[in-house]
Amino acid sequence: MTPPGPGAADAGPGEADWAAAVAAVRDLPADAPVQLICHVNPDGDALGSMLGFGLGLRRLGARRLRATFPGPHELPEPLRGLPGLDLLVPEEDAYAAPALVVCFDAASESRLGALVDRLTTAGTALVLDHHASNTRFGGINLVDPRAAATSVVAEELLARLGVTLDAEIAECLYVALTTDTGSFRFEATTPAVHELAARLLATGIRPGDISRRVFDTRPFGAVRLFGEVLCRARLDPGAAGGHGLVWTYATLDDLARHDQRPYVLEALIDSVRCTAEADVSCVVKQVGAAEWAVSMRSKGAVDVSRVAVTLGGGGHRFAAGFTGRGTADEVIAAIRAELDKALIEA
Ligand code: AMP
Ligand code: MN
Ligand code: MN
Repeated sequence: MTPPGPGAADAGPGEADWAAAVAAVRDLPADAPVQLICHVNPDGDALGSMLGFGLGLRRLGARRLRATFPGPHELPEPLRGLPGLDLLVPEEDAYAAPALVVCFDAASESRLGALVDRLTTAGTALVLDHHASNTRFGGINLVDPRAAATSVVAEELLARLGVTLDAEIAECLYVALTTDTGSFRFEATTPAVHELAARLLATGIRPGDISRRVFDTRPFGAVRLFGEVLCRARLDPGAAGGHGLVWTYATLDDLARHDQRPYVLEALIDSVRCTAEADVSCVVKQVGAAEWAVSMRSKGAVDVSRVAVTLGGGGHRFAAGFTGRGTADEVIAAIRAELDKALIEA
């Protein structure tokens, strides 16, 4: 099988999709209930896109607006300063049958937990996303695999709806954009990304403050936890057809010993993927007795989304994940077995 190249499946939304999305929002009465949802364990793109878009709808006059995500009503500490958090409700308080549901940054229905039923109870289901593996599960799908973040799609829809960016909307979208581009370091950082960043910064938001708060602040306990978990990293130079694999794992006991919440481990992959000797990096994070949240990154030799999809997850070519079962060693063995099949031909 050849990796996905440019083609019909990679093309972004067509004019008909944009027109349908604009009509779905614009034709709603101001008092129609609108439910915004995003993927489980929301990251900066999921939450930032959702809240930025929600604030935009509020500017348009929407009066019954709620945002939520599946699972415990708890946010990573770095995201607790985002504007628009007053839109957030626990998932139990989401509208049962909204006129419109808008879904952010979820590649498939499996990322929506119990909220998946809103796709059918809602009058209209609008999906905004940028994962190549997106299954187009909405009634209207604005899915652009070339977009660096879901916030790129959200900003375009806001512009088409006639919403003027203000500092609050911009901060949300900026956090989303910087999260998914690794602060403008990843391949997806196109001229369009920088143009969007310029529009966002022009509202007066402070990028230094935002980046420090969202990316460069963690508790001392997390610093020590990282040290311990990085010490047990393993390098397997022969994996991935000789391109190399580096990996480590963190257990619930590690978190408990350092008195840390699971979200602090999200940043760990960045300290592992810098290994020069490995194309593929992997962090296996325990979430249950025999259940692990797996993060994978590639520098270009391997399409890790193919590995993730095979193992029940999803993501992008160079950043993907899935839920693993068994021991950490068994999870790594399953990944190693799939890596050779996911090599990208030069
Ligand atoms: P992460 O390593 O958690 O930052 O995720 C990297 C990418 O993989 C993101 O684009 C996620 O949307 C995707 N991803 C992570 N975990 C899963 C999962 N269990 N199922 C589907 N996609 C996932
Ligand atoms: Mn995401
Ligand atoms: Mn994203």
